Amino acid sequence: MTSPRIEDAISKRIDGFAERIRLLKEAGLYYYNQPITEMMDESKVLVRGRVMQMFASYSYLGLIGHPRINEAAKAAIDRYGTGTHGVRTLAGTLDIHNELEETIANFKGAETAITYTSGYATNLTVVSTLLGRHDYVFSDRLNHASIVDGCMMSGAKFVRFKHNDLNDLERVLEEAPASSAKLIIADSVFSMDGDIIDLPRIVELARKHHAWLMIDEAHSIGVLGKTGRGIEEHFGMEGVIDIKMGTLSKTIPSVGGYIAGNHDMINYLRHASRAYIFSAALPPAQAAAANEAFKVILDEPWRIEKLTANGKQFISGLQSRGFDTMLTETAIVPVLCGEDDLAYALTRNVQERDIFVLPVVSPAVEQGKARLRATVTAAHKTEDIERAMDIIAEEGKRLGILK
Ligand SMILES: *Cc1c(COP(=O)(O)O)cnc(C)c1O
Repeated sequence: MTSPRIEDAISKRIDGFAERIRLLKEAGLYYYNQPITEMMDESKVLVRGRVMQMFASYSYLGLIGHPRINEAAKAAIDRYGTGTHGVRTLAGTLDIHNELEETIANFKGAETAITYTSGYATNLTVVSTLLGRHDYVFSDRLNHASIVDGCMMSGAKFVRFKHNDLNDLERVLEEAPASSAKLIIADSVFSMDGDIIDLPRIVELARKHHAWLMIDEAHSIGVLGKTGRGIEEHFGMEGVIDIKMGTLSKTIPSVGGYIAGNHDMINYLRHASRAYIFSAALPPAQAAAANEAFKVILDEPWRIEKLTANGKQFISGLQSRGFDTMLTETAIVPVLCGEDDLAYALTRNVQERDIFVLPVVSPAVEQGKARLRATVTAAHKTEDIERAMDIIAEEGKRLGILK
């Protein structure tokens, strides 16, 4: 029997939430889980029966629906069926899994790579497998939730440093015992603010303090660097990251996560990380789609150029219209609104004009920093971006967000 006290606490939490959602729905401001019923082309989706320009996608290179990638997935279904035979270590490993891991290792300039069934599971299992309770982990305050959860699960001393403030990182590194094992973790591009971690400085600190360095490249694979290989290419610092993490669910239009790194570490993860040993292998169609996507990125470099140009156009255009876009340098562009209600209202107004963009409110971001979190991709046309910015600015004025 559950104790009545616990039951009360839980039902209070649930009721409080239900009330908050009810109020938002009543005001027509509830934008959670809106189903997309069809993809019209790489930058347009059908939502509530209306064709909308997509400005909330993580598919940075516009690869969802790419004919070569779709074909690869279909061929994998014909060859292997839709499922695997269980976990990788028993009967689940297919040759397409090994091929994918080789493709990733080549793309990332690493000795080898391991894949998991999601980016979330990757961070959770890898951090908690590599670290134990006598170790120290140093994590940027704005790191993704999956990193935070992995750090907590590891039982290591969990130290957070101020966002992209490497003087603060240095301070906390100096406070840790010199003899302890240390891991520094950061996102390459931060998913809410769009800014880039200061890789040169973080590498310098990692070396000075004999710490391992792990970087989560969810938003930099296919985005940063001339050939899209990510943050090391962006800074011209190939080979400086010990644990290169990424997801297969954003620029790569599939699902899954990976770690690229040296043989011994990856081999250890294959034998010791629980999400690998106790969870089924990636479905063959998804592994094949991911494998093909890495090749398409290298074969179609115009996509990266277009993405970079679109990002610049979007950031400078919003700024010149008077918006605060914080410190973004990438395709993730925060459009600062202020209070949560303003972000909800701006979302409603621009969606009514068929621009699909979503709000981010507290507690996901600080109170008073609610925003639209808009993204551009390589699939947007210059004139579509201009039009979207005009609409966002007109509605921003109407709501008093812009003067
Ligand atoms: C999306 C994301 C993840 C999780 O990846 P999934 O494949 O969606 O589970 C991890 N880290 C960062 C920074 C992300 O943005």
